[in-house]
Amino acid sequence: MKQYDYLIVGAGLFGATFAYEAKKRGKKCLVIDKRDHVGGNIYCEKIEGINVHKYGAHIFHTSNKEIWEYVNQFAEFNNYINSPVAIYKDELYNLPFNMNTFSKMWNIKTPAQAKAIIAEQIKALNITEPKNLEEQALSLVGVDVYEKLIKGYTEKQWQRNCIDLPSFIIKRLPLRFTYDNNYFNDRYQGIPIGGYNQIIEKMLDGVEVQLNKDYFELDDKDIAEKTVFTGPIDKYFDYKLGILEYRSVRFETEILDCENYQGNAVVNYTEREVPYTRIIEHKHFEFGTQAKTVISKEYSSEWTTKDEPYYPINNAKNDSLYARYKELADKTPNVIFGGRLGQYKYYDMDKVIISALDAVKAEFKD
Ligand code: FAD
Ligand code: UDP
Repeated sequence: MKQYDYLIVGAGLFGATFAYEAKKRGKKCLVIDKRDHVGGNIYCEKIEGINVHKYGAHIFHTSNKEIWEYVNQFAEFNNYINSPVAIYKDELYNLPFNMNTFSKMWNIKTPAQAKAIIAEQIKALNITEPKNLEEQALSLVGVDVYEKLIKGYTEKQWQRNCIDLPSFIIKRLPLRFTYDNNYFNDRYQGIPIGGYNQIIEKMLDGVEVQLNKDYFELDDKDIAEKTVFTGPIDKYFDYKLGILEYRSVRFETEILDCENYQGNAVVNYTEREVPYTRIIEHKHFEFGTQAKTVISKEYSSEWTTKDEPYYPINNAKNDSLYARYKELADKTPNVIFGGRLGQYKYYDMDKVIISALDAVKAEFKD
């Protein structure tokens, strides 16, 4: 008999969901994290009374009613609707791409006019089946929107040419021919009132947690019947098949002595020459009225194995390398690989919870 039923590596949303469900089933878990806090990338730090999304803006959105009800057990959500704006040089546009964007871009009013301009702009390109992000974007929104709002931002974000990126990245964004600035199409959306930490804290209530503990530096890893690993899958196997690539992100956070700096939680800077991708003004996620404000400039940065991995780069090369790691993982007894890093997938929060609950179902068969 080992000391624990499960050693859960990573106190992010995947690890915490698994721990919560295992505890409910009477299992003894130890959760470790190499950071000095729980929550993984959804962790919020309180500054000037404002919940600062320390690892980037996090907006919960889902179309899955069950998952919405599941997270609502742990927090009450507000009615925040994400509607970022994009600044290109001295022009300002609404996102996602919708009639407000097109009307400003071309001084037009109707969907028919917008569709006609896009069709005219892409006529000569002859794109039948988009093979990459550039072709996908052009075929959806035409040349002007692509040049002003997509190309610079995307190349800054991914440090890769748009023709070398997969088209699914841009398909995440809605495209609408209505005047609707909601960034998401999902039925349910909001920010937990009081921030995300309470969700993880409630999930981990009654579970043993050790912080500042790196799995790879444990003297004894053999303390549990099974391990749930939510760190990078390639690192688990000591990079023996090669390194999976990520983008990293760096934040410059400032407290400003003003009540309202940019009038919106998220403002994207879509021209290449501005070094950051976006500025987040955190108080607007919770309609804050504090005297001061906190903003974070978000810079996309090249990643090395020493940096924090943020975005998996799911292109053909990395996906096929991941498939080989997955084969190894499937042959590794008593280890469950999960989450954004363990499954090398560009998962949103709802999808991470779904995949953790799937892992729970497979594990406990109840
Ligand atoms: P993580 O949160 O990364 O947790 C993994 C944990 O494992 C970390 O705490 C890490 O420290 C720990 N760990 C790793 N290796 C080790 C080790 N060797 N030993 C011990 N611990 C280890 N999703 C949305 O739904 N909406 C959004 O608006 C949104 N915005 C995002 C913005 C950014 C900038 C990023 C990067 C992601 C965003 N996401 C968003 C996605 C969301 O962050 C993830 O879906 C979710 O946090 C993933 O949870 P996870 O548990 O898989 O991973
Ligand atoms: N994107 C863009 N212009 C924008 C916002 C997004 O071209 O102003 C593209 C970019 O390629 C980005 C993708 O859309 O990587 C997905 O954007 P999202 O806001 O979903 O990215 P995330 O919040 O995950 O960083």
